[in-house]
Amino acid sequence: MSANPGSENRRLLLHRRPEGIPTAADFAHVSDAVPTPAEGEIVIRNHYASLDPAMRGWMDAAPSYMPPIALGDAVRATVIGRIAASGHPDFPEGRWAMTLGALEDYSVAAAGGFTQLIDADAVPSVTNYLSVFGAVGLTAYFGLLRIGRPTPGDTVLVTGAAGAVGSLVGQIAKIKGCRTVGIAGGPEKCARLTERYGYDAAIDYRDKDVSALDAAIRDAAPDGVDVIFENVGGDIFDAGLLNLNEGARVALCGLISEYNREPVGARNLWQLIVKSARIEGFLIRDFLDEFASGAVEMGSWLADGRLAFDEHVELGLDQAVPAFLKLFSGANNGKMILQIANDDGSAA
Ligand code: NDP
Repeated sequence: MSANPGSENRRLLLHRRPEGIPTAADFAHVSDAVPTPAEGEIVIRNHYASLDPAMRGWMDAAPSYMPPIALGDAVRATVIGRIAASGHPDFPEGRWAMTLGALEDYSVAAAGGFTQLIDADAVPSVTNYLSVFGAVGLTAYFGLLRIGRPTPGDTVLVTGAAGAVGSLVGQIAKIKGCRTVGIAGGPEKCARLTERYGYDAAIDYRDKDVSALDAAIRDAAPDGVDVIFENVGGDIFDAGLLNLNEGARVALCGLISEYNREPVGARNLWQLIVKSARIEGFLIRDFLDEFASGAVEMGSWLADGRLAFDEHVELGLDQAVPAFLKLFSGANNGKMILQIANDDGSAA
């Protein structure tokens, strides 16, 4: 069975390295032949791609946890879709699979490792493998529980709190008996924090400098902060550091405010010394061996109605760049996902 009768492979290539916020001119749309798998490989007809802030870092030449995307290569992204052609007996055509592929119609991948079959019937929507049951959900789960190590009664401050990761962090912290304060951009997102994601207090960071942010955090967390789950960096991080309690933990998950500019650095790190506090960065892949157990517990909370999550789906490969940029303007409400194909495999 062929999951898609398409005869071309539209691809979004990295044409040049962006300076600051990427523009359309940094990318090129091309159309190649649909690849065929060698022995041990599969070709996936991509239905959905995960658009992640981290992809911005992969577009730079700077050293990171993954090699930079080479100029002229398709833009790397996690994708899910149906196997269109297979060179591996355990990966039959028509089955759903997930891989670290690219923003393209068809991705070719070696079966196994990061390339796995997924069970579309086990979840309400197959896109959930890119959100709550994917790297995003597990980043919230392991980042908070293993790095932030909250205990009941702690106050947990989450930045980027209305986003894909942050919205789940706040809810997991509540499940663990914590008080939660979320920081997000604008009144609508702040309302979502308290009304949809159960945050005890919400702070709108827009138009606030470090001292106004510091005052707002102090207001929302008069007894101080025991855990910071940091997604943003910059002024927001500096203000959070001014509110640490003795022995606090900072789980450094991301620094999205710095992805499109020269980093300003954290200017209040001395607070870690005076509060005997700990800061620890992490990558979700550090917890790869434990993904299944994390997903089971997240699944049980979902089944009990204790977790809400949102997916923001944009349609069409030609919308990849504008959709990606929404991550940096805050125009996404939930996990940003690009739909590349319809159910029948035709282009979305
Ligand atoms: P989100 O769904 O949170 O989308 C990004 C959000 O970040 C935007 O909606 C916007 O929200 C906020 N934002 C963007 N630019 C700025 C800025 N300059 N200042 C303040 N806020 C900004 O994305 P994710 O949940 O996928 O990712 C959140 C963070 O987690 C990122 O830093 C990402 O790199 C990191 N991450 C780390 C992982 C790891 O393994 N360590 C794995 C996955 C993600 P608003 O409207 O509130 O401004």
